[in-house]
Amino acid sequence: MWLLTKEAVLTHENLKKRGYQLASRCTLCEEHAETINHLFLHCTWTEQLWRMFSCLKGIRWEKPGSIKGVLGSWNRDGNASDKEKRWKLVPACIWWTFWKERNNRSFENRQNSLQKIKMDCLALFYFWCKQDILTRTEDIFDVLDCLYAAV
Ligand SMILES: [Zn+2]
Repeated sequence: MWLLTKEAVLTHENLKKRGYQLASRCTLCEEHAETINHLFLHCTWTEQLWRMFSCLKGIRWEKPGSIKGVLGSWNRDGNASDKEKRWKLVPACIWWTFWKERNNRSFENRQNSLQKIKMDCLALFYFWCKQDILTRTEDIFDVLDCLYAAV
């Protein structure tokens, strides 16, 4: 998250700035150059997870065009109560999920379907909620209900 907010994640865009010669192409959609904003915000694959979590959160959300903008906007409203703290994990869940998928495709020649990526992201969301936020059994059921609505 720190590297992302500093726009220092080693995407093709940043590798080029360091002098690497690359034919940059997003490993997910294979349509656009791999930039931080494309990979983590605007790729059609990434968009689907943002849309999924917006629906789960029950909001209509206009996603800003930068990582910092997203963090500020996503965390601004409706996350104050203990019950709603879980939503703060969403950007990190989405970005970590896609960074792992991107690296699997780039270095391991392995790729998951969008459905599998969504399920992995939801599982990560549940795991992180359970580790850091959920303290009562009712909270766990609440998150599971939320995840059930997503599938
Ligand atoms: Zn893409």
